[in-house]
Amino acid sequence: MKIILISEARDLGLKMYFTGKPCINGHTTERYVNNATCMKCLREAQTRAYRKNPSKDIARVLRWQKENLEKHRAKGCKWWNDNIEKARAGARKSYRKMCLTDAYRSKSNAKQARRKAWKLAQCPSWVDQGRLEEI
Ligand SMILES: [Zn+2]
Repeated sequence: MKIILISEARDLGLKMYFTGKPCINGHTTERYVNNATCMKCLREAQTRAYRKNPSKDIARVLRWQKENLEKHRAKGCKWWNDNIEKARAGARKSYRKMCLTDAYRSKSNAKQARRKAWKLAQCPSWVDQGRLEEI
C-alpha cells in the first residue's frame, strides 16, 4: 500500500491516509483523515458497541434505510445483480435455516390445519368423506 501522509490526503480531498506504521493496537491499516482513527480500531469499536446494544445500531440502520429509500434499494439491487450466484446461495441457505426453526414449523403446521379446515368447510354435508379421499 502506498504511503500517503495526512496532509497530502487532506490536500487531495481523500478520506483515508496510510502511514505504514502500526497503530496503538498494532494494526497497520489506513486511517481516517477527519479523526486519524485506525480503520480496524474503529471497526472493532463499532462491533463492541453493536454487541453491547444491538437494537440501537439496528434502529439507526433502519432509520437511514427509511430516509434514503432510493439509495438503499439501488445499493441492494446493485449488490444482488453483481453477486447473483452468491445471493441465490445465501437466500437458499437462509430459507433452509428458517424451515428448521420451531416457530416456522408451528406456523406452517397451523397454516396446513387452517387449509384442511377450510377445505372441509367447503364440502357439502352430503359428500362422503371416505369416498372423497378415494377420489
Ligand atoms: Zn488500530
